[in-house]
Amino acid sequence: MMRKPIVAGNWKMNKTCAEAADLVSGIIRELAEVTHVDVVVCPPFTALRTVSEAISDTNIDLGAQDLHWEKRGAYTGEISSEMLRELFCHYVILGHSERRQYFGETSESVNRKVHAALEASLRPIVCVGERLEEREAGRTSEVVESHVRGSLAGLSKSQWLQVVVAYEPVWAIGTGRTASPEQAQEVHEFIRALIGEMSDSHVAEAVRIQYGGSIKPDNARELFAQPDIDGGLVGGASLEARSFAQIVRAAIPEGAQE
Ligand code: PEP
Repeated sequence: MMRKPIVAGNWKMNKTCAEAADLVSGIIRELAEVTHVDVVVCPPFTALRTVSEAISDTNIDLGAQDLHWEKRGAYTGEISSEMLRELFCHYVILGHSERRQYFGETSESVNRKVHAALEASLRPIVCVGERLEEREAGRTSEVVESHVRGSLAGLSKSQWLQVVVAYEPVWAIGTGRTASPEQAQEVHEFIRALIGEMSDSHVAEAVRIQYGGSIKPDNARELFAQPDIDGGLVGGASLEARSFAQIVRAAIPEGAQE
């Protein structure tokens, strides 16, 4: 099956509204013609409206970096799916390792958020991945399996088809240390097989699995050429229009004309 590649920029806690407007106008200039890759930008909450308005007539989609599972109520500091939909968000990153590490996210809380997102027709980009000491202890598969099974429990087939999984080895995030294409492919293949067990083989073939962790213009093409890598979740390199655009172009399938 031909899966459409998807490249998303996770801006994390960077960019004021003015800076976000600047960055997104550069991205629009660079990527206006690209149609063979789904392109998503995920600014901080405060810049969502600015970016949403800027991309309204383009192929670029909007994502948020988190949400709360309740629709509304006494949850100081939190943002609901309804609030994101109002700003024309179509994606939401959930379970990023920084949220697991610094804000106590667990696969159980991620799973509640995944269900809340899907109920609101938001597509979750669900992050999974092992820490360095877990890889070195030979526990990569065990950790990734527990993230996938826990974060994505209880999905119907049609819900699975709305999900994007992002494999992000924690030791490769923001460190300049990328997983080799072979290391990444091995885990992506493992995740796809797991999805097959949790759902069925048709779903497993259809779900897109992104790689994330120090993707740069000079390593993106090799990673995206792997059979089970369907694009990337990009942190640092998404904060500059030129490098983000180069990474998106590296995901255009061979033979596709842009
Ligand atoms: C990320 O935080 O999702 C990420 C992949 O970051 P970076 O590209 O900076 O490693």
